[in-house]
Amino acid sequence: MFENICSQFPVLSRYVNDKPLVYLDNAATTQKPLCVINAIDSYYKELNSNVHRGVHTLSQLATETYENARKKVQLFIGAKHAHEVIFTKGTTESINLVANSFGKSFFKQGDEIILTCMEHHSNIVPWQLVSEQYGTVLKIVPVNTNGELEVDVYEKLFSEQTKIVAISHASNLLGTINPIKQMIDIAHTHHVPVLIDGAQGIKSCILNVEKLDCDFYCFSGHKVYAPMGIGVLYGKEKWLEQLPPYQGGGEMIEQVSFQKTTFNKLPFKFEAGTPNVEGAVGLAAAIDFMLDCGLENIIEHENKLLQYGHKKLQEIEGLKIIGNAKEKTALISFLLKNQHPYDAGILLDLMGIAVRTGHHCAQPLIDFLGIPGTIRVSFAIYNRLDDIDKLTEVLHKVNTMLNKK
Ligand code: PLP
Repeated sequence: MFENICSQFPVLSRYVNDKPLVYLDNAATTQKPLCVINAIDSYYKELNSNVHRGVHTLSQLATETYENARKKVQLFIGAKHAHEVIFTKGTTESINLVANSFGKSFFKQGDEIILTCMEHHSNIVPWQLVSEQYGTVLKIVPVNTNGELEVDVYEKLFSEQTKIVAISHASNLLGTINPIKQMIDIAHTHHVPVLIDGAQGIKSCILNVEKLDCDFYCFSGHKVYAPMGIGVLYGKEKWLEQLPPYQGGGEMIEQVSFQKTTFNKLPFKFEAGTPNVEGAVGLAAAIDFMLDCGLENIIEHENKLLQYGHKKLQEIEGLKIIGNAKEKTALISFLLKNQHPYDAGILLDLMGIAVRTGHHCAQPLIDFLGIPGTIRVSFAIYNRLDDIDKLTEVLHKVNTMLNKK
């Protein structure tokens, strides 16, 4: 499947350190297909203009294009209304928006927020910042030795003070796909809303936020073939209507006077200032690209890479896979015996293989696991089994070289 797809990704034909690039850092960001690059190019060549505020033709065309992108996202994620889709810079901004606006409306001293041990810093620090402001307390769901959440412990964390649950759909370090539907249903029996950090999870499923019944879902375009600087906050209408604006500025207002300002309707209440129209255009093109490839096909292809990667990596002496959950997104974290991940990362780069090493913005999980970090490889539509063969071949050599030192 997808044999010739690499030709649609210009950057993949380049050399790095005189070796053909093998790009295995897709959980950090994916490469962009020509259709996305061309869509942005055409936008600037043909209809660039500021949106919403112009009577002239270009402004109206740009507005239509931007709002069509919103509708495309709505259908892609299965939201009931287009106005439940807020364009943001990415997952991080989406979570900060909810933490701040939700906090302002609902948090008081002693209230509790449930997070998990495997959260990315983007789904920890915003809640810590608002906790300093309102005196709220974080409660943490632990993980077991396979890297799966302990759902029975989660159930017991709820109390009268629980105000919101914020959990990742999939862990960017362990790869674990969490049982979010089950966890949302449990939270709802306690009348507690749930925010899902979908940065890694969005590509591992065919998302339908209505069926999932999550209250908020956040993701970044750049992890699904779209440009950087564009992302989405999905929120149920009933919540978005209740939350106050996150930022003030143009577009988010209805009427401004020095005495009082009233706010625009959804989704504009949460989109202060000139939006990232180019990003929305790129995201719409990326969605078309994924739909053309077929979401089932993409998932199947990445699962195949994941299974093959697990098998081949396990053959390497002294290699330990970190994260062995039953359900995983297409990434593998591992450690080489007695080696710091950073050293292996540098050597792999010299051979043209791009991987990520370090704490992956999940320091609490790294501390819990008692490891210095991991080497992480993550797959996308353009990766082939051959990339994994190259990786493992080099890892065998790296192992020998580093162990000789
Ligand atoms: N959450 C998870 C699970 C992630 O993997 C990432 C990025 O790697 C983020 C949040 C933050 O995404 P962004 O930097 O695009 O806002």
